[in-house]
Amino acid sequence: MCPSRLSRRSALALLALGGAGALAPALPASGEAAARVDPKDPAARALGYVENAARVDPHKFPNFISGSSCDNCLQLEGKPGNEYRPCKVFQDKLVAVGGWCSAWAAEI
Ligand code: SF4
Repeated sequence: MCPSRLSRRSALALLALGGAGALAPALPASGEAAARVDPKDPAARALGYVENAARVDPHKFPNFISGSSCDNCLQLEGKPGNEYRPCKVFQDKLVAVGGWCSAWAAEI
């Protein structure tokens, strides 16, 4: 399976949430601190978001590829070097660069 393709389950979760990038308004204006994604938040839970990719259960998320994390995901935005950065899926909040969710897509 192509690693950049979402699993059917993840695609359905994204659609239920309004699609990638449609979860909430954009990040606060420059200088304001954005909140971090809470892994217990319903949107995060729907996508299996965790702050540490080493904690992903590959049985629950068979699309997980060893070595994948937010840091090498196409959806990650923001300045390299920061521990928490914006993500196109969770637009109003920051994700841990060492995290992972089932919307992970390989960088091109
Ligand atoms: Fe999921 Fe990728 Fe966003 Fe991390 S950067 S939360 S893996 S979509």
